[in-house]
Amino acid sequence: MKHQKFSYIFIFFLAISNILSQEIKFYGEAKAGGIIIGQGKNIKAARLNEKPLIVDKSGTFIFGFDRNAKGSFTLNIKLTNKKTLKYEYEIEKRDYGEQSLVIQKKYIRPPKRELKRIKNETRIIKTARKKIGKVKTALYSAGFSYPLDSIKVTGNFGVQRILNNEPHNIHNGVDFEGAEGDSVYAITDGIVRLAGENFYYNGNFVLLDHGQGLSSIYLHLSKIFVKKNQKVKKGELIGLVGSTGRSTSPHLHLGVQWFNKRIDPMSLFDIKELN
Ligand SMILES: [Zn+2]
Repeated sequence: MKHQKFSYIFIFFLAISNILSQEIKFYGEAKAGGIIIGQGKNIKAARLNEKPLIVDKSGTFIFGFDRNAKGSFTLNIKLTNKKTLKYEYEIEKRDYGEQSLVIQKKYIRPPKRELKRIKNETRIIKTARKKIGKVKTALYSAGFSYPLDSIKVTGNFGVQRILNNEPHNIHNGVDFEGAEGDSVYAITDGIVRLAGENFYYNGNFVLLDHGQGLSSIYLHLSKIFVKKNQKVKKGELIGLVGSTGRSTSPHLHLGVQWFNKRIDPMSLFDIKELN
């Protein structure tokens, strides 16, 4: 009889721990340009609307909302015990405003002799980006830190750029004030997919793969300290601030994407670490 009582308590304990382990922890904000990181045990699969998400061995996954995202999104999580968890997100259209800049004419309409070069550079970037999403591990689980020692934003994410009085491209990143030679750090752990030198628009730049489709890009550098396929840690020195490529003065342009979705880099820095 004594033995039977023991096993009853044991089973009860297992049932409790099973309920607790189904909890999913979320980080980030559901908004246009925002990302959400989820973490939980016993996850079999997750999808956002119809898109399957990558869940790694630790139960970590990520998804993002594009600059122009709006409307309803449903996150479905299938657990190993066949239960399903459902989360609904209602995303409002975000207004980003405009920013007027005066830049050299050659960066608005590139001279004919540069077109072949630009086409080639676009192809190189596209090829490097194709690899992003193949790493299943959440390398970003180290959390995020700023790419510079001192942070002052001079160009917000998502603004409509007015170049020399003409509406032009959308600003797909954030510009930070910086002096030539300031240290530039990786915002989280990753793998260098591309260390581009002297590209027409980007100048010297580094593209990092943080796993599960998340990437960051650091433009207009004066110096690069990393090589393709090199692993980097959060906070590691990867280059120096400069004004190479289409840049009016020394600054750092930081761009973040989740696959091809344009993410507001500022939405990451509240996620200092995952517990
Ligand atoms: Zn920029």
